[in-house]
Amino acid sequence: MAFGPKRSALEALWTETTRRPLWLPPNLLRYVRLSRRVNLVPLRRRDVRVEGPRFGVSKCNACTNNCCVGKKNTVSLRLVDIATLIDLGRADLIRREKPRFSEADKLSSKARARFLASDAFTVFPVLRQDEHDRCAALSDGNRCTLHPHWPLSCARFPYALDLDAREVFYSPRCPSYDIVDAVSEPRVKTMIDATLAAYNERIRDFVLLDHARAGLERIGLTEWLNL
Ligand code: SF4
Ligand code: SF4
Repeated sequence: MAFGPKRSALEALWTETTRRPLWLPPNLLRYVRLSRRVNLVPLRRRDVRVEGPRFGVSKCNACTNNCCVGKKNTVSLRLVDIATLIDLGRADLIRREKPRFSEADKLSSKARARFLASDAFTVFPVLRQDEHDRCAALSDGNRCTLHPHWPLSCARFPYALDLDAREVFYSPRCPSYDIVDAVSEPRVKTMIDATLAAYNERIRDFVLLDHARAGLERIGLTEWLNL
């Protein structure tokens, strides 16, 4: 789809912010400080391995374990997701408040514990869930009402990134899948690309927050963040 006004404004802000390398004066110190906090090197396809089950695609029609339900499936939003939701007229789905996770939830995986303790979780909003912990974008018939303009975390799932291992893997949270020929199944490439994009967009978010906060305020995105 052509970008809506918020998303277009966000893209224009990124172009304006990165017109000159960020590490040139007068931004050098700011850039160095940010790079100590956040790894600013984007991931490319050749930087990661894709691990097993290699080239699975989900069989959502046969699934009884819907990944759009439950606190552990809370979707954290990137700035592009927020801008897209506003452009779609679905700002009602954006929530700054986070669900409360039990200690057991927090400790159930290293990746989750790390994420829940991260700036990304604290600062950025999530998709609203209803009183039964179902994503509020899910229809009564268990269809995603945002597809195909869903958040990046949804576009990549069940593919996920293990940054330490530089590995894109198929999440064990998805129990229903087919193994496919990755060359002829375009969904595999789409999900691998979305996995990398989800990571790289977070870098972009932190760069914009650090180097262009006034611009984000101007286009009305900071009001959705916990700053
Ligand atoms: S858990 Fe897997 S198969 Fe089930 S709805 Fe989610 S992606 Fe589809
Ligand atoms: S946006 Fe769609 S795919 Fe993502 S959690 Fe909600 S219903 Fe599921």
